[in-house]
Amino acid sequence: MKNLFKIITSIIIFLGISYTCFAQKQAFNIDPKEILRIENTLASDDMKGRKTGTPELDSAAQFIEGEFSRAGLKPFSTSFLQEFVIVRPKFLGLKAEIDDKEIDTKNVIVVTSNADLKVNEKSGYKIHYIKPSNATDAAQFSRMARAFVSANENAVVFVDTSFGKSFSRLTGLKRQLFKSDHNVVFVLGNYVPKEFTIKAKHAFDEMKLKNVVGVLHGKTKKNEYVIFSGHYDHIGIGKAENGDSIYNGANDDAAGIAAVIMLANYFKALNNNERTLVFAAFTAEESGGFGSQYFSQQMKPEEIIAMFNIEMIGTESKWGKNSAFITGYDKSDMGPIMQESLKGTAFTFHPDPYPNQQLFYRSDNATLARLGVPAHTISTSKMDAEPNYHKPSDEVKTLDIENMAAIIKAIALSATSIISGKATPARVKVENLK
Ligand SMILES: [Zn+2]
Repeated sequence: MKNLFKIITSIIIFLGISYTCFAQKQAFNIDPKEILRIENTLASDDMKGRKTGTPELDSAAQFIEGEFSRAGLKPFSTSFLQEFVIVRPKFLGLKAEIDDKEIDTKNVIVVTSNADLKVNEKSGYKIHYIKPSNATDAAQFSRMARAFVSANENAVVFVDTSFGKSFSRLTGLKRQLFKSDHNVVFVLGNYVPKEFTIKAKHAFDEMKLKNVVGVLHGKTKKNEYVIFSGHYDHIGIGKAENGDSIYNGANDDAAGIAAVIMLANYFKALNNNERTLVFAAFTAEESGGFGSQYFSQQMKPEEIIAMFNIEMIGTESKWGKNSAFITGYDKSDMGPIMQESLKGTAFTFHPDPYPNQQLFYRSDNATLARLGVPAHTISTSKMDAEPNYHKPSDEVKTLDIENMAAIIKAIALSATSIISGKATPARVKVENLK
């Protein structure tokens, strides 16, 4: 007869072996040590707050590229780096004549990447007219801005004088913009001209920016994309507080990027995604959202089934550990689908408890949502009282790394039925968005 000790030992050995087998079948573990390693890199003082257009942001991109490659992702196209150029125009001068009369330069706004632009009625530009409106300034501006965005071609937009107060806001469109061959000229005044000539001179600063994008191709539904994203830029170096001027952005949004990298490893190990998973680290979220805009232009929105955008999951939510919220909960039925997948787990996701903060519109998900994609941000941030938000004190030491690991696991589980193709969230109704 074996002694009890041996039996116990053999049981332990047996359990140990079977546990190992079980562990191998189970998905990759979300290891807090790995999260800490990623955070310590991205949110270190060396990264100088990851401001858009800085060499430090390029270093961050390189680091993320290495992580995607090591996780076994494939590049989205030829490279993990999705590069594009933003220009910052400096206005040098303008001359505008309509039917041989020179008009006040205040009434002309030229949005261009062309240093020396000359446009007349023979240039082949599309001519638009924006009719009178007594809407609010903001509504008027968004109507003009929509004309600009939807133009996507050379255009002259004649804007009715009832837009007089909101017209100057259009200069916001030329603070920085995608380098483009298309020029859009806005003219305020009730003209239906026979002839016009507009000449504008600008100088430009160029910024080369890049998203980092990797893919795990689906087993069966290859052209149905599910996106996991965060932004890797932050706001750089600024006003010092308590002797610290580096805005590290450990929570905003190195935490989201850590999640995206961990999810890439997790789903690669699980290796059973029917839909194609896209892991995206966006640039320039804090300065115009250009990264997610460029990303969305490289895809067909109708092929994007869902977007899980992740922002600031480094602190406990208002409900405590293991819980998070979903922004824009009522904009699609993706929230309820995620909650269904979390039933019976330790995790709960709630509708965004801070609707006044407009969080749905304040991150990269909004860009995709405006194209109809069920695109939401998942966060744990107590936005009514987040002491380190956009402060130099947004540092790694303020994060609850263990809880972050739990939230990342929760996000993975919440996506189960969407990834397997069992569930497809309803499209966002674009006409209901701001
Ligand atoms: Zn953010």
